[in-house]
Amino acid sequence: MNLPEESVLQKTERLALLKQRAQAVLAQADHEASGTNREADAQHLQTLKLLEDLRIYQVELELQNQELRAAQQDAELARKRYQYLFDQLPLAALVVDGQGVVDECNPLADALLGERKKFVHADMRLWSLLTGKDRSRVSQALRSVAAGETLVLQQVHHKTAQGQTLSFDVHLIGLSIDYKLERRVLMLWADRSAELARQADQQFYTLLLDASDAFMYATDTQGKMLLANYALLNFVGRSREQVVGQPRQSFLPLRDAILHAEADQKVLHSKQAITVEEQVHGAHERMDFLTRKFPLRNLQGEVYGVGGISTDITALKDQQRQMLLSEAVFQNSAEAIIITDASTRILRVNPAFTRLTGFSAEAVLGQKTNVLKSGRQDAAFYTAMWQAITQTGTWSGELNNRRADGRYCTVWSTINAVRDAEGNVLNYIAVQADVTPLHNAKMALVHQASYDSLTGLPNRSLFNDRMSQLMSASLRHNSSFALLFVDLDRFKEVNDTLGHQVGDQLLREVAHRLQLSVRAEDTVARIGGDEFVLLLPGSDAPGAQAVAANVLTKLREPMQLQDSVSYRPMASVGLALYPQDGQTPDALLRCADLAMYDAKIEGRNRFAVYTPELSRVNDKRFAIQTELAQAIEQQQLRVYFQPKCRLSDGALRGAEALVRWQRPGNGLVLPGEFIGVAEKTGLLVALDHWVMNDALRQLGSWLASGQWQPGWRLSINQNVADLKHPRMLENLQQQLNQHRVPASALELELTEDALLEHTPEQLAQLADIQRLGVSVSIDDFGTGYSSLAYLRQLPVSVIKIDQSFVKGMLTHENDAVLVQTIVDMAHNLGHMLVAEGIEQETQRQHLAGLGVELGQGFLFDPALDAQAFAQRWLTASQPS
Ligand code: C2E
Ligand code: MG
Ligand code: MG
Repeated sequence: MNLPEESVLQKTERLALLKQRAQAVLAQADHEASGTNREADAQHLQTLKLLEDLRIYQVELELQNQELRAAQQDAELARKRYQYLFDQLPLAALVVDGQGVVDECNPLADALLGERKKFVHADMRLWSLLTGKDRSRVSQALRSVAAGETLVLQQVHHKTAQGQTLSFDVHLIGLSIDYKLERRVLMLWADRSAELARQADQQFYTLLLDASDAFMYATDTQGKMLLANYALLNFVGRSREQVVGQPRQSFLPLRDAILHAEADQKVLHSKQAITVEEQVHGAHERMDFLTRKFPLRNLQGEVYGVGGISTDITALKDQQRQMLLSEAVFQNSAEAIIITDASTRILRVNPAFTRLTGFSAEAVLGQKTNVLKSGRQDAAFYTAMWQAITQTGTWSGELNNRRADGRYCTVWSTINAVRDAEGNVLNYIAVQADVTPLHNAKMALVHQASYDSLTGLPNRSLFNDRMSQLMSASLRHNSSFALLFVDLDRFKEVNDTLGHQVGDQLLREVAHRLQLSVRAEDTVARIGGDEFVLLLPGSDAPGAQAVAANVLTKLREPMQLQDSVSYRPMASVGLALYPQDGQTPDALLRCADLAMYDAKIEGRNRFAVYTPELSRVNDKRFAIQTELAQAIEQQQLRVYFQPKCRLSDGALRGAEALVRWQRPGNGLVLPGEFIGVAEKTGLLVALDHWVMNDALRQLGSWLASGQWQPGWRLSINQNVADLKHPRMLENLQQQLNQHRVPASALELELTEDALLEHTPEQLAQLADIQRLGVSVSIDDFGTGYSSLAYLRQLPVSVIKIDQSFVKGMLTHENDAVLVQTIVDMAHNLGHMLVAEGIEQETQRQHLAGLGVELGQGFLFDPALDAQAFAQRWLTASQPS
């Protein structure tokens, strides 16, 4: 039987109908059993056929019913799965229609809706989540979001039942399958409150840090900055990006940075907070800071850095110094000082008061000043005195007082009233000097005018008087006398290393020994810091020389400086004779001075006798100044070359050109003797120009003959004044061209100290030089106060470590640290390093170990003339 596609309902209805019809037919058959057999048979057949149809139909129906049940089960499973996902979403999820009526919500959304849903009409449920402005935003979005589209609304606010305001990102997703043929929207609510609160927190702490006047910062265990607040950035004049991630030496002077890092290390080692006073040196001033440093710990408690808070206490320190000074003045004043309150009750007195009056401080504190009165001045006197103080605030005059022992004394007193802003008297300050001590002081002044206060010896003016008198007397009696000029050797070192007090002690002892070395009629005087003179009346040359020798021996006896230092003073002594060497005090003194200078040059700790030759030498020294100008024109300058070698294997890598002066009759003069003079007289630019030209000429010829390898560099010293020359760059280019020297074979050396005083124009000039291809190096690096930040802005590519540090690095911790820091710093900046003054193999090994590329020094060779240099270094073929 061919049945059309029917629904289950239709089939069931049809089945019932068929059943009905079959029963009707069967009933009819029974009823008509009495009729003809044919009819009955036909009827029966029809019925059987109908029943057959019915049975087939029933089987089909049963099959169809089974399929339907399976499909319904699948659908139910899928629905359950999606419901589960919907319920488990970690976000509040709602399905709403275009008007915001909530169809479905998951438990989180349910919780959000909270108690409200019980009381509010279903339509109101979504809107109850929102407040005024957000309602219209959401309502608009609900209307506009199309099926399959997603819209995100940020910062939608919701106030919880507990009154807390939460902030959400609401995602609206238009649903495409819609069984009700109406618009439905899936809303997902992502809570952003915690994140926003975190951001606000962070902003709050940054604002807090930046609002502080104190420097707040943190470094990691390697000393790199993790954090710096505005006050610090403002102080160093850098942006946060320029500071964070950098070490301190990138913005502080190197020596300060090292000390600050040492304090950090203390905290890292001890894991304890410390409080230290620190300093930062600027170009002209020094600032003091009180710093609290503390370990920074992560959640596991491990220390990962150091935090610091530095308060500027410069003003406080200055004030402290000022106060100390005031206190020192108060304590050490030679005059008695009395401070009282407004009712003249004594608050403080100084030691001079006790000396003057015999009263101890304890005896008078709290008493009125009239305990000092002698009663020898009448009431009218005091009335007038107080009238003056009240009207003018000050009074000066003589007071007759009584000492503790009952004796009278007269003091010159100045009384001043100290008033507050309203003019009320707070204190009176009286400064009193005994008139007798004043007289003594006057006498002392007369003495001071003629005697040296430290040693008690006659001073220069008294000495001149005595020499003048002696000259007149000697002239009258046709006799002679000798003058010894004694200058201590290395006195400055004692002063600098052991301090001025020890220096003073030494001077007093020397004065004493000198007096012991001469007769009573001789005069010993001190005419300068460590300069003494001895006048020996009646002495001739042999006698004076004997005294000079005796003086040296006496001086050399060991003396105790400080507690433990045993010291043997040494001196250089010059000897001049009257009348042959000079006829005036000035002339004779100059001769003795020259002889003394000669003794110094000859090696100190000796005496020298003046000869006219010494005057000639001195005149010559004077002449250097004038002759140096001609020296350049007359080709008396020579360029010497000192090899620069690779530290790892000693292979030649270049040379430094060093000037010498072949001064006629004077041999080879070293630059130390004339560079200073040249600089002072403005000759240095011309001198450097000459050296440059001659050195390049020599280099050109070595290059042409193939003796100078590509990659080697000749460095030439330049003064910053050279950079000021307007045509410096042009001249340099022209000289390079003239001698066919490629720019890459040349390096200019400028001292660190000189560079510290550069102008922006000179910096630009340096940059232009580098652009030519010429390298620029900083000479004597480490002797100045330049910071890494400063170094970074300099257009240089090579750093020469000063020889003083190379000398000290194997024995002095400070020098070793400095060398290490310079090496790290230079390599960080990509600069090459040259170490100067290497004299020992151990120094070479140490520097090579640190990664210093090149070095020069006597270990390799001193500076040699061009010929010797070529012979020793250029003829042998060098590994490249
Ligand atoms: P500098 O540029 O630092 O040169 C290094 C000085 O150290 C040279 O002294 C060199 O002879 C010396 N020296 C090298 N190796 C050693 C060593 O192992 N031990 C010791 N103790 N000293 C060593 P020099 O030639 O007397 O020059 C002194 C300074 O004069 C130079 O110092 C430089 O600043 C200046 N100078 C030299 N030539 C010129 C020049 O042509 N122009 C200018 N402006 N200055 C120059
Ligand atoms: Mg140099
Ligand atoms: Mg140097």
